[in-house]
Amino acid sequence: MSDLKNGPPKVIAIANQKGGVGKTTTAINLATALAAIGKQVVVLDLDPQGNASTGLGVGRAARRATSYDVLVSERAMEDALIDTAVPGLSIIPSDADLSGAELELSNAPRRSYRLRHAIDRFRRALSARQAQCDYVLIDCPPSLNLLTVNAMTAADSVLVPLQCEFFALEGLSQLMRTIELVRANLNKDLQIQGVVLTMYDKRNNLSGQVAADVREHFGDKVYDTMIPRNVRVSEAPSFGKPVLLYDMACTGAQAYISLAKEVVRQERSTPEAV
Ligand code: ADP
Ligand code: MG
Repeated sequence: MSDLKNGPPKVIAIANQKGGVGKTTTAINLATALAAIGKQVVVLDLDPQGNASTGLGVGRAARRATSYDVLVSERAMEDALIDTAVPGLSIIPSDADLSGAELELSNAPRRSYRLRHAIDRFRRALSARQAQCDYVLIDCPPSLNLLTVNAMTAADSVLVPLQCEFFALEGLSQLMRTIELVRANLNKDLQIQGVVLTMYDKRNNLSGQVAADVREHFGDKVYDTMIPRNVRVSEAPSFGKPVLLYDMACTGAQAYISLAKEVVRQERSTPEAV
């Protein structure tokens, strides 16, 4: 489809059709941690709930151009970027309009490729301006709908947050089937970036058991870093801040720094695509 794939930015879809597993928290805080270690990062909020936008301090009134405009009206991504309080991190916000996008695009030709084309144009615009962007993290909605399919079609890889609870693995086969379908029909190069265990509670035996099961199932795709359940992580969004700005020293912030380092290390160890 595109001759530009494999060039920066690396596009990672953060996906799991279950709600409440830590997708948005991971998008916000992994993005912040990547920016903190010197990367240029964009969060693309692809959930109509707009939690990533709110959590990064972008109030409703500030959301002039959104991911809806990018997807439906072919608005350039760079026109929709809003700076955040984190140097190196900007966001394309979303709002409730996005919930209508699926219906509005239902008859559009190549409707699964809308975001892919937008990102191709963004890559071209970056290279024309010699501007740098290292990562685009897409915060997906809690559904395997057209929005998530657009994200997977546009992405280089999928990062799956899994909550350390009894039903963690439930629904995963459906997610993996969707990834397979996208690979077979829309984006043959789509990789699994990794699986990150979230809301891990080391005092809880069940958490440890779930972590062990997930590692058995996914092997080295599971990050060494586990994100602990940490009240500071859940408090931060109500202040419109990533946890790294809210309380840099807390265990949750430190875990996201460690996850970011693992993600960056993956780049170095991945052989060049041929
Ligand atoms: P999703 O985007 O998958 O629906 P969220 O990232 O919004 O999930 O997380 C769901 C809820 O869990 C939110 O209230 C969030 O603040 C909370 N949460 C996420 N990660 C943690 C964590 N590590 N510790 C404590 N609370 C967390
Ligand atoms: Mg979310």
